[in-house]
Amino acid sequence: MQTSHAGFEATARLQCFLPGTQWRIVGSNAVRLRGIGRMGARVHGALEGFIERHPESKRTHAWDLSQVGRYRNAISKFVDPEHRAMLERSMHLYTAIALPALASCPRGMLHGDLNDENILFDGDDISGVVDAGDTQEGALIQDLAISLAYALQAEDSTLEDAATLVAGYDEVRPMDSAEEAALFPLVLARLACSALIGIGRRDEDAGHETWFSHESTTLDALKRIITVTPAEGRTRLFAGCRTTEGPARSNDQVREDRARTIGPSLSVSYRTPLQIVEGIGQYLHEADGTPYLDMVNNVCHVGHCHPRVVDAIHRQARTLNTNTRYLNGMLSDYAKRLCDTLPESLDTCFLVNCGSEANELALRLARAATGAHDVLVVDGAYHGHTSACIDMSPYKFDGPGGSGKPEWVHVVPTPDVYRGEIRDDDAGAGYALEVGRVIGEACRAGRSICGFFVESILSCGGQIPLPDGYLEEAFTHVRKAGGLCISDEVQVGFGRVGDHFWAFEEHGVVPDIVVMGKPIGNGHPMAAVVTTREIANAFDNGMEFFSTFGGNPVSCACGMAVLDVIEDEALQKNAQDIGALFLDGLEALKKRHPLVGDVRGRGLFLGIELVRDHATLEPASDEAEELVNRMRQHGVLLSTDGPLHNVIKMKPPLVVGRADIEMTLRLLDDVLNSMARG
Ligand code: PMP
Repeated sequence: MQTSHAGFEATARLQCFLPGTQWRIVGSNAVRLRGIGRMGARVHGALEGFIERHPESKRTHAWDLSQVGRYRNAISKFVDPEHRAMLERSMHLYTAIALPALASCPRGMLHGDLNDENILFDGDDISGVVDAGDTQEGALIQDLAISLAYALQAEDSTLEDAATLVAGYDEVRPMDSAEEAALFPLVLARLACSALIGIGRRDEDAGHETWFSHESTTLDALKRIITVTPAEGRTRLFAGCRTTEGPARSNDQVREDRARTIGPSLSVSYRTPLQIVEGIGQYLHEADGTPYLDMVNNVCHVGHCHPRVVDAIHRQARTLNTNTRYLNGMLSDYAKRLCDTLPESLDTCFLVNCGSEANELALRLARAATGAHDVLVVDGAYHGHTSACIDMSPYKFDGPGGSGKPEWVHVVPTPDVYRGEIRDDDAGAGYALEVGRVIGEACRAGRSICGFFVESILSCGGQIPLPDGYLEEAFTHVRKAGGLCISDEVQVGFGRVGDHFWAFEEHGVVPDIVVMGKPIGNGHPMAAVVTTREIANAFDNGMEFFSTFGGNPVSCACGMAVLDVIEDEALQKNAQDIGALFLDGLEALKKRHPLVGDVRGRGLFLGIELVRDHATLEPASDEAEELVNRMRQHGVLLSTDGPLHNVIKMKPPLVVGRADIEMTLRLLDDVLNSMARG
């Protein structure tokens, strides 16, 4: 609205006229597609320096291709399961490949909407580009992905047509490897996002035709390319630009090499094994670029290849890596930092290399401090692969190839309120009495107990949380018999359970020894035993304790970085919040699927037990294996555990987000439905 010099008010609208016909009307051919690519790159060149003059360009809007994850929830609005699966895969590839790659792509000023209505042609020549309504700062590759998404919506168009457009762009502005990695999943994401925004708006205003004018063409385009692997998509899109890397070694080849050189008692996961070549955050990438959501690896606690952890290892490895017989402040700094996470009495640290070694050392400490020899363990437990640890692991000595329990090991029943002998509200006290009973029997047989090794949520035993009161009363029995209480926190420690940093804390107990491993170095081989000064002194009998690699400066730097990341990224809180969301979703699945007998766990340490019959609890072990393999086909990695192999365990890196959990739940629902149909 303006007041004219003549004194009256008038509304004016400025219109410019550009001659030409919209791309969608003239259609595509090779010359036009190449021209669109070139023009896109020229627009980027012309806008160089624009952002510095117009900082307000750093903005976002509904179609911002770096933010389309927010539309993921609309997938459930599609009724056709094929559509849902396509959209799910597109969004998964977007999150797992495009977003991490975008972080290192060149940025600049984007047109933001180089679509088939905004590019005008005069014959085969571009006569103009219109609509600056979606301009923004961003990764330049986003613009190219948008044009490609429209090129692919033309009837019968192929990735080879799209490659012509890519070649045109690359001719003017050659792209780098991050852009190459991001492009194909970004194209899928743009197509998916058109469909998802469209269906969302249908709820708002079904009469607004133009909002969903592209719905069927986007779904058709997705259908044509959705089965293409990310690596193939990348190769085909960039086929006109340059040669891309040769193929990786085939899975069969790697398998054969492995069979020739590696001991055969080591198994490979999944019916169709995976050749994983890269990890990032909560994702693992197969050799062909296919990403998998890692819902089972509790070692890469703060995310695969976390840059801060990698950087800490790299810097220290470049500077010094030696043993602990030299003075180095990093050793005591790290030990102090670790002890500070624990109750005050646990103030003395031993650093070793893996969980098994840590449990071995805990056994030696307990024997030295008590003068006793025997141990108490929980049925189904696993404590490591060394000779003594195998002897303390019913999971192994009672399993295939095992030779049963040695005399010095006493097994207490699994405190399992779902399948065990005692299932009532007083199960904690009931199972603790069993601990007292087993100790009593051992003592009567002339044995003496040096310690009770126990996890605060049973892991290999089947993801079983301990019933209330169990640990406290069990510890009382053990201590009364002169034994020590040893918490094996190898799987459940470091904030995974959400409410507490250490899982034993939920039970209001303070152990005498805490054993740590797996997540402590986010994959770097390290482990620790923390105990009281008194126990450590009792162990100091003249024989030196020394581990060549334990506590080396690289491990200390790595361990410190892991603790920093857990704290700075509030990962314990994430385990609590995301874990609660996951548990709720799993409970909802249990109501819908009779195969799900029990859902349990804490934070991001969860399990579902599959049964064929809710009364007899007949284990659904084959079904569990089937489910895990089908989920793997859908890009989500899970595994089975428990003595009956019917528990699906879920213990992802603590960086998983809401979208990952929602996708996992939707896929579990679909897979359980399809299994029920047979
Ligand atoms: N304790 C527990 C509870 C474990 O789960 C494991 C490994 N699965 C170990 C100890 C042994 O750890 P590592 O494989 O690092 O020797």
